[in-house]
Amino acid sequence: MGLNSISFLAADVSSTAFNRLSISPAERQEKIALNAIEVEALDREIQRLIHEHAGDLTSGFIAESPDKLNRIVRHFRACLGQLEPVAPRCNAPWVSAVIEAGGDVRPCFFHRPLGNTRDGGLHEILNSSQALQFRKDLDIATDPICRRCVCSLYIPNAGTFDTSPTAGVGHATHGGGEYIG
Ligand code: SF4
Repeated sequence: MGLNSISFLAADVSSTAFNRLSISPAERQEKIALNAIEVEALDREIQRLIHEHAGDLTSGFIAESPDKLNRIVRHFRACLGQLEPVAPRCNAPWVSAVIEAGGDVRPCFFHRPLGNTRDGGLHEILNSSQALQFRKDLDIATDPICRRCVCSLYIPNAGTFDTSPTAGVGHATHGGGEYIG
């Protein structure tokens, strides 16, 4: 097919991202998520993928690391209540932004908009007092939206991030709300 790379993502079961007006009802969430048998099958497939396509992982053709692939399984296990949801390593709100078709600017796909490009420029929105405060307050490790996140972004060595081992269980922490993208 001439692809440069391939990426895998868990289904987002419980957020209002991607233009959903409200959180899906429980029956709908159950339909999208995996049952206990399916999650075991997925786990086996992921382990097989990691084992049989080690070269594709190393070359970057498979965009995710083995840990990120395993996180897909953990996500569905958390949906089933088999595991506590754990937030990914992410610095998306500090290094990127999502602009929706209607102009809403979000710090990532899942958190609420910080403004709209009809009312101001992107730079202004990303550095507004509201945006600065949002990033200052956001604790990815404990935030309930982050803990259910299926699509995180982590750019290493981005600005002021503290990635030392003492910064937490694999989570970047930050000194403030500055946008450094
Ligand atoms: S972990 Fe997910 S929800 Fe949280 S800031 Fe990162 S992309 Fe957004």
